[in-house]
This record gives sequence, C-alpha cells and structure tokens, in this order.
Amino acid sequence: MSGEILGADGMPINSNLNELTGVNGYHPDSKNGASEAHGIDDGIRDIIILGSGPAGLTAAIYAARANLNPLVLEGPQPGGQLTITTDVENFPGFEDPIEGPELMEAMRKQAIRVGTDVKQDWVSEVDLSHRPFTLRSHEGNTYHAKTLIISTGASAKWLGLPSEAALANRGVSACATCDGFFYRGKDVIVIGGGDTAVEEALYLTRLCNSVTLIHRRDSLRASKIMADRAMQNEKMRFIWDSVVEEILDVSKGEVTGVRIRNLKNAQVSEVPAAGVFIAIGHQPNTSLFKGQLDLDDNGYICVTNGMRTGIPGVFAAGDVHDTVYRQAITAAGMGCMAAMDAIRFLEAEEATHHHAAPSFAPVLVTT
Ligand code: NDP
Repeated sequence: MSGEILGADGMPINSNLNELTGVNGYHPDSKNGASEAHGIDDGIRDIIILGSGPAGLTAAIYAARANLNPLVLEGPQPGGQLTITTDVENFPGFEDPIEGPELMEAMRKQAIRVGTDVKQDWVSEVDLSHRPFTLRSHEGNTYHAKTLIISTGASAKWLGLPSEAALANRGVSACATCDGFFYRGKDVIVIGGGDTAVEEALYLTRLCNSVTLIHRRDSLRASKIMADRAMQNEKMRFIWDSVVEEILDVSKGEVTGVRIRNLKNAQVSEVPAAGVFIAIGHQPNTSLFKGQLDLDDNGYICVTNGMRTGIPGVFAAGDVHDTVYRQAITAAGMGCMAAMDAIRFLEAEEATHHHAAPSFAPVLVTT
C-alpha cells in the first residue's frame, strides 16, 4: 500500500508519476537503484493536506471541488482516530450507527472521486521558511506546496512503562471501543481521571464483569455528569491517589493485573485484571512543526482568523489544534474552513500577481 497514489478514478496512478511530476522517473514501488535513493519529487501543488482523518479528507473534498487537485498525504494512521473506533452514532447523515473505518473509507472515496490524489507517505521533515513549502518523507520523496493544510490529528498518550509496551495488544489497549469485546465478562482496569477515562470505563461496564478506574489524584477531572454516571455505576470501582508501576505479567506474555503505588502512603499493591486500558488523554501530532509554527504549551497548533497559522499559506484543522471539541464532525467542519481559507488565499495571491504584472500584450481596439 505504501507509496500508492490513487487518482480521481480511485485507481492507482503511480505509473503516471513521471507525467504528474516531470521528475526523475522513480516509481515508489520499483527497485531501481540510484533513483530509489532520492525518491520522487512531486512538483509544486496548489494545496497539500497532511493527514487523512475527517479534517484532512473534508479539506480535500472542498479543494478538489475548487479544481485544485489537492494531494493528501495519509501518514502512519490512514483515516485517523476514527479507524480505531466501532459504532459512530453522532456523525449526521446516518440513521443507524456507522463503523468508524467504514465512515472514513467513504470519505476517502468521496475525496478521490471529486479529484483528490491520495498517497500513503510519512512526512518526516517540513520547511515552512519560504514558499513553496517543502516536505520530505521517510521514503525519500519530496513535495512542494503553495499552501499547506495540517490535519495530522492527535494520538493517544501512553504511560511510558516498558511493561506497557511489552504487553501492547496482549491485554494493554488505548481503545475500549476497539478492544473491549475481548474482555467480556472479565475484570479490567482503566487508567486516568478525565472524560476519556470515564467514557472508556462506562463503555466497558456494558461488557465486563467489573471496571476498576485507577487515578493518580483523589478526584476525577471528568465533567460532572460523566463523573456522576461513573460513581453511580455498580460495576465501577475506584482506586485513588495511585500510579501504575508495572503492568503484569510480562513473563507470561499476557496481562494479569497491575502493580500500583499509593502516592500518599507509598504502599505498593497488586490489582488483578485481564485487561488494562490507558486513557490519559491525547497529544497532538505536531513534532514536525516545532520551531516553525506557534504551538501552545501542550503542543497544539495555534490558529487565528479562521484556520490560519502564523505563517501565511499554512492552515491547521481538526484535533491538531482543537483542545475543546475533538469531534469528527467539528474536525470535518474545520477541514472545510481550512480549505476555503486556502482557496481564498490562493485567489487573492493570483489577483495581486495579475494586477502587479506589467501587461505587454497588444491591446485589441475595436470600434
Ligand atoms: P484530560 O487531559 O482531560 O485527562 C487526562 C487524565 O489522565 C487526567 O485525569 C490526568 O491526571 C491523567 N493522566 C495524564 N497523564 C497521566 C500519567 N502519565 N499517569 C497517570 N495519569 C495521567 O484528557 P481527556 O482525554 O480525558 O480529555 C481531553 C478533553 O476531551 C477534555 O476537554 C474532555 O472534556 C474532552 N472529552 C470529552 C468527551 C465527551 O464529552 N464525551 C470524551 C472524551 C474527552 P490529572 O487529573 O492528575 O491531570
């Protein structure tokens, strides 16, 4: 899949890359020596969109329908966070719940149908110091864009324990809706104290025998309505003021529980469980832009006046800058806004250029 560009007909168009780019003849899937090391150069695009969640694909639909033939670079998690959810019930237009991956596949096909090129390539470096902006990928490909829409989203945070990494997908998960099913009738643990943790925990109470929420403070950060709901749920248990020291049992290759330490009395204890769900929030995928764009204290991209960042021609949409709403529908709305901002930016630039350029064309005088 990697390196595949899909054209407006939904068919791979890698073989047309030379025509598309006029460059060195490298086919991403070919094994052809020297050119392989340098990758392709995609030429200059009006709009490149980084990320293919609801924000990126909606931006693509709007840009494509404005005849700008945008390129979407899908990155490491094509389709974004919705691809790791099951039922989506709050995206308007679907009477019955739609699966997250199905919704994203429909958006992707729609974007391609109206004229978007989609490529799975992981950008590792951006240069926003001058236009056209330059992007380089791990595969050695180079892209240039007159405008850039950043919709790289956010990723689940992890505790950072070696045992957590060793047992990932073997009982450790960051997505209850994806993995809860495997723990039907069992005892599970959720780590965290915010809305994500409570939402995950409440979801798991529908499937599991018991859900123990372990939080490092003595009260929930979650909104009152969610916290009340959790407190009143008879399948919920709470362990306060405690941090996880280790997820057990790496030697067995499966989760059997956690070892925790109480922060107030330093007491260490073990809590048995078949699954551990880490729900301590998300971090924006913005490391690429550090030092080039204004980021807030938590690393989210700052935008003003619509979806504009501090660099003219660079726009940000969706969870990469949204610390408040974080919904698929709001991300899609912001993707639309970013595309409209980018389209107007290009139009204004073209108009200025047009007026500024001296005209040497002969003037046809009619009588
Ligand atoms: P939050 O930042 O709100 O909460 C993260 C929680 O995890 C906090 O309780 C924090 O502890 C804890 N935590 C963070 N790092 C660690 C760590 N290393 N070890 C142990 N615990 C840790 O993130 P959420 O994802 O929960 O929510 C983010 C935003 O999204 C909020 O605005 C929330 O309201 C919203 N949201 C809304 C939902 C809804 O309305 N349905 C659903 C999900 C999210 P501490 O409290 O000590 O900082």
